[in-house]
Amino acid sequence: MATHFIATTTIQSAAERLKGRPKLCSDCGVCSSDLRPTMARSCVFVENKVEALELMLHGRTRHAGDEMLFGIHRSVHAVRLRRINVAAQWSGIVTSLGAVLLERGLVDGVISTRAAPGTRFAPEPFLARTPAEVLASAGNKPCISPNLEILDQVRASGLRRIAFIGVGCQVHALRVLQHELGLEKLYVIGIPCTDNTTYPALQRFLQAVSTSPGTVVHYEFMQDFRIWLRHEDGQIEKINFVDLDVAAIGGVEAIFPAACMSCFDYQNTLADLTIGYLGAPLPPGERWQWVFVRTAAGQELFDLLQPNLEFGELGERGDRSMGMREYIKMLKNPRGRPPFLIRKLIASLQRARGPRGKEFARSTIEMKLLRNLQFVRDKHARMEHRVVPYHVYKALEPYRETYEQVFGRSFA
Ligand SMILES: Cc1cc2nc3c(=O)[nH]c(=O)nc-3n(C[C@H](O)[C@H](O)[C@H](O)COP(=O)(O)OP(=O)(O)OC[C@H]3O[C@@H](n4cnc5c(N)ncnc54)[C@H](O)[C@@H]3O)c2cc1C
Ligand code: SF4
Ligand code: SF4
Repeated sequence: MATHFIATTTIQSAAERLKGRPKLCSDCGVCSSDLRPTMARSCVFVENKVEALELMLHGRTRHAGDEMLFGIHRSVHAVRLRRINVAAQWSGIVTSLGAVLLERGLVDGVISTRAAPGTRFAPEPFLARTPAEVLASAGNKPCISPNLEILDQVRASGLRRIAFIGVGCQVHALRVLQHELGLEKLYVIGIPCTDNTTYPALQRFLQAVSTSPGTVVHYEFMQDFRIWLRHEDGQIEKINFVDLDVAAIGGVEAIFPAACMSCFDYQNTLADLTIGYLGAPLPPGERWQWVFVRTAAGQELFDLLQPNLEFGELGERGDRSMGMREYIKMLKNPRGRPPFLIRKLIASLQRARGPRGKEFARSTIEMKLLRNLQFVRDKHARMEHRVVPYHVYKALEPYRETYEQVFGRSFA
């Protein structure tokens, strides 16, 4: 029997929703639930505990190389569901996994995120009790969502075996608290997340980028350096990254909450497995995804789903290092939007020669680590030692010299 929890108020502006919270808050759900007293030790923005949590989960911290960017993992795969769910964000692996867990009786509930009534994209976390309920929550609601709030309902219902679907800041708090929740079994299904936003800011963003913001049903930032927006009638609108008029929407800081600009876990590295698309083969229409299997529980989940999966190949192309050096210079001295013809040239060069596949993923994650490190230094300098985890400095070490030259300060 489905139990519906309160409708959350994610449609409020950040100022309304986050009133009274610390300066950095991604509305993970701890502070709007009975877990609020744990905030000082569970919140990723009070103290980033990724190193201790990696030791708890894996008995080690990250190895040099890809793990610095992608997190500790046993294996990584290019996969898609054999029977693609057309309503899903990609092929539907995440919700399909939640449904299989309920079908097989391996969990009693799945914490997932559906759209709030009357909206397409405002997130409403909820406790799914049937496979149909999880499947109906397919698709991104690309806004910050207080998913951990639902742990109150789990406790009230007396459920002891659950799966949690969520993003990195939520998973951090959940991992800190998992042994205090009275659970017999917890599966953590992670989705990557970066540059999240509030619902009102998302609407402003869509109005600025799309010719028909009201009919956008799906959008993603893709490896060909374009945003692909799919509309209700199936039409795809493609916008070059370089054509985005960020100043017209008030700059990145007007769109992304300070917490998301201070976030260092794009790849949701503390989950049991992470299911995304960033390094997966193109074209998007084929709906390939990439999956990182991280823990023994993650392996169990992957094995469970394996008969439903088709396997592809992860590729890579290009060299991100030159682009990264240019990016560091741009971060220090942001340039305005270039004239139309120059933008056209940049966009075609990016498509023809830019990094692809795993190299695209590395370059994207490195840029976000660097941008967010610099944001913390500029805006919340006193918090750097608490919110920037160890791997950021190790991952960005190859750019130390350029950083020090450009910013005129020591890197670490
Ligand atoms: C804000 C956001 C940013 C993302 N950025 C990236 C990225 O840069 N790179 C990348 O590889 N992947 C990213 N993802 C993940 C990716 O877009 C897909 O969600 C993922 O690959 C799963 O696809 P699927 O078809 O298997 O999921 P589906 O089967 O369609 O299921 C989607 C699941 O996402 C959950 N969900 C939806 N909205 C939210 C939300 N706001 N908060 C928490 N959970 C939610 C739902 O509960 C549902 O279970 C992002 C997701 C979100 C929500
Ligand atoms: S991110 Fe979560 S734990 Fe931290 S202040 Fe916000 S709601 Fe509380
Ligand atoms: S970008 Fe980071 S802080 Fe913001 S919602 Fe996503 S995981 Fe949380």
